[in-house]
Amino acid sequence: MRADISDSRGGEGKGRLLGELKRLLKEAPVLARRGEETKARKILARGKKLALEAGLQEDALVFQASLLRLENKFDEMVRVLVPVVESPGLHLRGYAYVRLGFAQDELKQYDAAIISYSRALDDPLYDTPGKAWNNMGNAYAEKGEFDKAILCYSKALDLPNYETPGKAWYNMGLAYFNKGSFEEAIECLRKAIDSPEYDTPKDAWEKINAASAKLGLTQAAEEAAAMAEGERIPKADPLNRIMDIMGDDRNKLAEYAAKPGTHYSDVLVILAGWPSVTSTESLLDGGLSQRLTQGGACFIKTSGQGILIDPGFDSLRYFSEMGFHIREVTQVISSHRQRPSYQELENLAYLADQWRNYDTAAKERIPIQFYFDLSTYKDHPLEDVADENIHPLEPGQPRYSLPGDIELKPFETKGSLKSSFGFWLEARLDNGQKRYIGYTSDTGFFPELCTKLADCDVIIANLSDSSVDDIRDNKLSEDHLGYTGLLKLVQGTNAKLYIVSDFRGGAGDARIELVQKLAYDLKKDKRKAEIIPGDVGCLLDLRDLKMLCSSCGEFTSHKRIAVSKPDAAFGRLRYLCKKCLLG
Ligand SMILES: [Zn+2]
Repeated sequence: MRADISDSRGGEGKGRLLGELKRLLKEAPVLARRGEETKARKILARGKKLALEAGLQEDALVFQASLLRLENKFDEMVRVLVPVVESPGLHLRGYAYVRLGFAQDELKQYDAAIISYSRALDDPLYDTPGKAWNNMGNAYAEKGEFDKAILCYSKALDLPNYETPGKAWYNMGLAYFNKGSFEEAIECLRKAIDSPEYDTPKDAWEKINAASAKLGLTQAAEEAAAMAEGERIPKADPLNRIMDIMGDDRNKLAEYAAKPGTHYSDVLVILAGWPSVTSTESLLDGGLSQRLTQGGACFIKTSGQGILIDPGFDSLRYFSEMGFHIREVTQVISSHRQRPSYQELENLAYLADQWRNYDTAAKERIPIQFYFDLSTYKDHPLEDVADENIHPLEPGQPRYSLPGDIELKPFETKGSLKSSFGFWLEARLDNGQKRYIGYTSDTGFFPELCTKLADCDVIIANLSDSSVDDIRDNKLSEDHLGYTGLLKLVQGTNAKLYIVSDFRGGAGDARIELVQKLAYDLKKDKRKAEIIPGDVGCLLDLRDLKMLCSSCGEFTSHKRIAVSKPDAAFGRLRYLCKKCLLG
């Protein structure tokens, strides 16, 4: 007979009782999962009693079935529930069907279980449909119908009030795993772990471990295994993996040693735009320091020799950027003491050392010879370079003969720097031709400078500091060439090409304008001189004084090369042939 509690207690009372019964049915499994089975039993017994007291015999049987569930008595569950699930007197129909489905599932009656779950979902009063969807997914998964299972889990997860999404994510992960979709499996399992209510992350980590292993992600697998263990100590000794990573095939030094370097034979390269010391400009903001070319160096490769001059900050980087290799360096010249770039000297010596130790052929070669001004010679940082490979270079000496038919005539410079020298360098090119290259180094202007550099083909002039007084009023600086000193140098010499280097950008980036002003002022004397601002990428062929186009990589007469302004101040200058300039 149908129990109509609304007659005796009123609709409100019935609703309250059913609400309480549902609450108890939801609470018991939570306690059971936590291992508090006695409490769970008590709660179920209380619900059963409440239902019976209200004359709800059919609903009381749902509690009875739940009690049997705790005993794993699935047959009995089915026997108890089947007669009542369709009974009109049953109020907790959805709950009854979900329990029936669960028992059927345990009894491997998956099709019956699926039907039971869908009946539960048909009950409009059933308030935890997510559970039914999740369980239905499990039944499909047991049948091996993983796509259908995944669909069920996503139905559960679509419900906004679904209380245990972690469970559905985990189950979905399992389904994906079992169908061989390991990446999706890992994604779902991670979502399970991320679900706040999910209380068995160990299971998920173990499965992630297995899925990662299937994908060959050794490291991820081990990390997941460690997480499953609740700590970060790997199970297996990582030695083999380390050996693998450090194996010859990934040896960066070997990679570097195998690089050929460039094929250039008679070239002069500028590897600097700005001073060799830390530029304040580079410290102003991140974007600027990204663009700004730091110190760098100048490199002359000729006569089988490679002479790196005044390597400052980042010169090795620019050197490599241009495709050069340490094997191409035979001499290093430091013309004046510049402590801030000592670090680069150390880097260079260390790189050369590493390469020589690695490459047996390199070991046979004469080590890099360092030529230092007296001040640098006294306190250079190269403790690991043998003394015999470091030489003092005295500006008082008339000339130094370097290997490969290179003559170097140093001369004293003027200014606050002690022992610094500029030089005149004579090189015999591969074709027998001679080239004369002048290097001012860091110096104030003095008339003899023009005599020293009188017959040079190319003069590399360090502009260094310039001021308004210097540029507008031609006030010579004591310590640096500046604009006026440079103007006087060009007026007093007759080089085919002047490359202006070592700009200070403290008052802004006016490299191109400064060079334009030189040309403008020289025109008054009817003097026409080829002057270009130097920057990383400025590469001159010493045989014909052709320059490398930064864009197409072809060589063009320096007279037809246009220097283009960088996109933003302090950026790289570009040396463009006519074709590339016109686009
Ligand atoms: Zn070009």
